[in-house]
Amino acid sequence: MNVLIVYAHPEPRSLNGALRDFAVRRLQAAGHRVQVSDLYAMRWNPLIGTQDSLAFEAGQRFDVSMASKQAYESGTQSADIAAEQDKLRWADMLILQFPLWWFTMPAILKGWIDRVYACGFAYGVGEHSDRHWGDRYGEGRMSGKRAMLIVTTGGWESHYASRGINGPIDDLLFPIHHGVLHYPGFSVLPPYLVHRAGRTDAVRFTAICEALGERLDSLASTPPIAFRRQNFGDYEIPALTLRDDVAPGRSGFGAHVE
Ligand code: FAD
Repeated sequence: MNVLIVYAHPEPRSLNGALRDFAVRRLQAAGHRVQVSDLYAMRWNPLIGTQDSLAFEAGQRFDVSMASKQAYESGTQSADIAAEQDKLRWADMLILQFPLWWFTMPAILKGWIDRVYACGFAYGVGEHSDRHWGDRYGEGRMSGKRAMLIVTTGGWESHYASRGINGPIDDLLFPIHHGVLHYPGFSVLPPYLVHRAGRTDAVRFTAICEALGERLDSLASTPPIAFRRQNFGDYEIPALTLRDDVAPGRSGFGAHVE
């Protein structure tokens, strides 16, 4: 497989840096081709702006989605955005790797998504009608590709359990799994999580790598999270609520998983 790792940590000698290096070695040893977008090392600009469209005329009102769509369709996107989109086209497998910061991804990674996920590329794709509300949530340009998160947290596993004070980790990661990844069409694998990362020594690091290695060895065969697909009968269109006879009595994030 072609594997793209988008990696967000400022320190190469961190636990995340060591896990990134391990993952690259393991994947390459298994015969996969690997590219890494090391966002801090690349000095990735996370700020959407008029510079994202080379054809943007000074003084124009900046309509973010419209400017993104025009630049994408006319081939006038800035080179950094186009290069990351090429990597996504190339990839069969996308791994987003990051430490959990304030219960979500670091801002630099969010800014990668904001800019690389252009209108017409990751959203605003496909027919919008009373039967089909865009190619999204299970359809879209990333259909056929897989994705997975590698996330380290400071908190304990119990802090992220179903009754843990931080909220269940599946709920915290839902906007990334379901919104960022399922929306443009990726099949989303369960995340690889390292909790209580600050309590890592050489012995635990070996165990963490062993478990991560098993996950990396089975990327092609691991069943994805069974998120419902938007245009295949479970949802009323255009209201986009679950039909009354689908998952009756269930609501919240979990209702969108079969
Ligand atoms: P590091 O700090 O680099 O390392 C962690 C431990 O691993 C250290 O003891 C280090 O010695 C050891 N280690 C590193 N490399 C190796 C190696 N090769 N072999 C053996 N041992 C090694 N946590 C939460 O749970 N929820 C939050 O919302 C949250 N918000 C945060 C917000 C910010 C801004 C920050 C800075 C931290 C936050 N944290 C939070 C904690 C954060 O998630 C952890 O600090 C992070 O996941 C640890 O990953 P790291 O790569 O930075 O680890």
